Amino acid sequence: MREALDSGHISGDGAFTKKCHALLREALGSAGVLLTTSCTHALEMAALLLDLSPGDEVVIPSFTFVSTANAFALHGARPVFVDVRPDTLNLDERLLEKAISPRTRAVVPVHYAGVGCAMDAILEIAGRHGVMVIEDNAHGLFGSYRGRPLGSFGRLSTLSFHETKNFNCGEGGALVLNDESLLERAEIVREKGTNRSRFFRGQVDKYTWVDLGSSFLPSDLLAAYLFAQLEAREAVIAKRRAIFEFYAGALGAWAREHGVRLPVVPAECGPSFHMFHVLLPSLRVRQALIGHLKAAGILAVFHYQPLHLSPMGAKFGGKKGDCPVTEDVSDRLLRLPFYNDLSAKELERVASALLAFSGW
Ligand SMILES: *Cc1c(COP(=O)(O)O)cnc(C)c1O
Repeated sequence: MREALDSGHISGDGAFTKKCHALLREALGSAGVLLTTSCTHALEMAALLLDLSPGDEVVIPSFTFVSTANAFALHGARPVFVDVRPDTLNLDERLLEKAISPRTRAVVPVHYAGVGCAMDAILEIAGRHGVMVIEDNAHGLFGSYRGRPLGSFGRLSTLSFHETKNFNCGEGGALVLNDESLLERAEIVREKGTNRSRFFRGQVDKYTWVDLGSSFLPSDLLAAYLFAQLEAREAVIAKRRAIFEFYAGALGAWAREHGVRLPVVPAECGPSFHMFHVLLPSLRVRQALIGHLKAAGILAVFHYQPLHLSPMGAKFGGKKGDCPVTEDVSDRLLRLPFYNDLSAKELERVASALLAFSGW
């Protein structure tokens, strides 16, 4: 960050932004990467690149963060919610085909907790219907599916560098382009609808307003903050893997005894170790466990509420019973403390508090 300040360039697209772009492009094997101010904004850029018309539909899982739907709805699409698989809590590929209509423009799979969706089936179905695949990879950076990086499957994918994610700069994100032909327009959309990027490369002699866009560039100060973490990616992932493996080992017998489900990672998935969640037998038990942990000074929190049942989801026609798995798991899911600096002692404390719980 000092280097960025000393260079006199702290607006967007400075030296550190370019370093982040190169590192991510290489890691994901993509045609282009553009840092953005958030994953939400990267999703909005994807929506702008789709040239949505009123009535167009975008298929998304109901069990996700608001932005996955809102970014497309803001630009005129109708979100169509599909349920998730009971094991990975990822978009259920068996329900995808019947969610697709002649108005469907895109499907947005979310790699929940950094465990890959069934991308082979999703790509096959979307491809057959001429529907663009846009991966919301907010959780899954450096995870893999069948040996390929998450975020490299869709024509577009998005990343989040929000403080709550594995790699962060407070607020930030990226749009990943796996299709060279979308790159020039994406640069324009990100630069307020101008061809400023071409101007800086000397490809045009002045820059001007050529399309619709907005201001999606983060400061190079934030890119510098982010780049240091990306450079340490192996150490970060190793720490997170160790936390995940500790919980899985310490809680296996406890989970079997009490009918608790630990995270499911299919053999073809290399997770990014974004979180560790448990599925309790009921809402009542989950709430009691949250209270029990809180009394021991441990914060454990639930996660997404079904989007199709939210006030906005209902405006788009969502109603109870549409996504039964989402409705069920959102009541029973609990996330355990999970951050890079969690010590062995603290992990032991969380595990013993869980084992001491008696409110079944
Ligand atoms: C965090 C998150 C987002 C939004 O990321 P921001 O960078 O905060 O905009 C979008 N989708 C999913 C699945 C997320 O977890």
